[in-house]
Amino acid sequence: MFDKILIANRGEIALRVLRACKELGISTVAVHSTADADAMHVRLADESVCIGPPPSKDSYLNIPALLAACEITGADAVHPGYGFLSENARFAEILADHNLGFIGPKAEHIRLMGDKIEAKKTAKRLGIPVVPGSDGAVTSEADALAIGKEIGFPVLVKAAAGGGGRGMKVAHTEADLALALSTAANEAKSAFGDASVYLEKYLQKPRHIEIQILGDGRGGAIHLGERDCSLQRRHQKVWEEGPSPVLAAAARARIGETCAKAMRDMKYLGVGTIEFLYEDGEFYFIEMNTRIQVEHPVTESITDIDLVLEQIRIAAGGDLPAKQNDIAIIGHAIECRINAENPQTFRPSPGRITQFHPPGGLGVRIDSAVYQAT
Ligand code: ADP
Repeated sequence: MFDKILIANRGEIALRVLRACKELGISTVAVHSTADADAMHVRLADESVCIGPPPSKDSYLNIPALLAACEITGADAVHPGYGFLSENARFAEILADHNLGFIGPKAEHIRLMGDKIEAKKTAKRLGIPVVPGSDGAVTSEADALAIGKEIGFPVLVKAAAGGGGRGMKVAHTEADLALALSTAANEAKSAFGDASVYLEKYLQKPRHIEIQILGDGRGGAIHLGERDCSLQRRHQKVWEEGPSPVLAAAARARIGETCAKAMRDMKYLGVGTIEFLYEDGEFYFIEMNTRIQVEHPVTESITDIDLVLEQIRIAAGGDLPAKQNDIAIIGHAIECRINAENPQTFRPSPGRITQFHPPGGLGVRIDSAVYQAT
């Protein structure tokens, strides 16, 4: 087991990881930008290191500063949380080169799933059903039109490097296609530095259902049921629940086993989420996230398995916490994301919190890092 974990993140996920470390008796190192010196994760960690100025490229994304922080504190592993460097394969490799543990999957799997086109190809090869669409990136309008006609309109133009609902444009008819292609490519280029786009059939009324999986990296993997994240704003989740109100036990077992088998075949390591659109009783793979997700508490609440704790144990070479037959889904959980935003621009904007009075009681869980200003 690791002795000291550096948490390369901030906010509620940094606190969440910190709690799992405490339960495992592992020392913690918080890192922070100059703007976050008073943040809750810094206050609660055993040690903390300032890694740079506020822009995240200079602090939370600053790999040399993170390596230096490991060196100074003697941390032997890094937990990346979500966002920031959590899906950066190069970061995982650099840590390995420095004999530091990365609490996440193997670099090759992060890389594979980080490119949505490659991810879809891999899913198909592993027997996971995918959304009908182009086999790879579309490079010309003529090709796009031919594929569009084949799969039928409406179609969705999506960025290969996409995330956070960006670089996605619907073409309802053939006449809309040229504009959708150029707008999605431009948005992808400016947001991700990669203009490649691909086509998918646009499903009209899908539910978003995702399967939580856990792999030991040696060919063992289980699934922990699903989360239904259909309620979204601008393609971003705002409400997540499990089990899904529309999924029967047999369908859950079938898609869950398909995912677990794929992960066994890949020898996947750690936690991961396989995301699907679900329409008319059919599942269509859209992407895989190779990290812990914001909505993981839904699954923890209905399976009684501590995903972050298991993620750490497995990264240190531990076994899976249970066999598939021992996983029981009990009750129902709903997670709501409560965001503080500027009401005009909808940009994150917490301001100063002069009163903070979270709800409590049996079955209530608050994952947060905010506190009342003193
Ligand atoms: P991102 O990585 O940007 O979050 P996803 O591929 O995960 O993008 O898709 C996010 C959301 O966009 C989905 O939950 C769904 O609401 C919508 N979406 C994605 N692909 C399709 C599709 N082919 N048809 C209809 N809606 C889609």
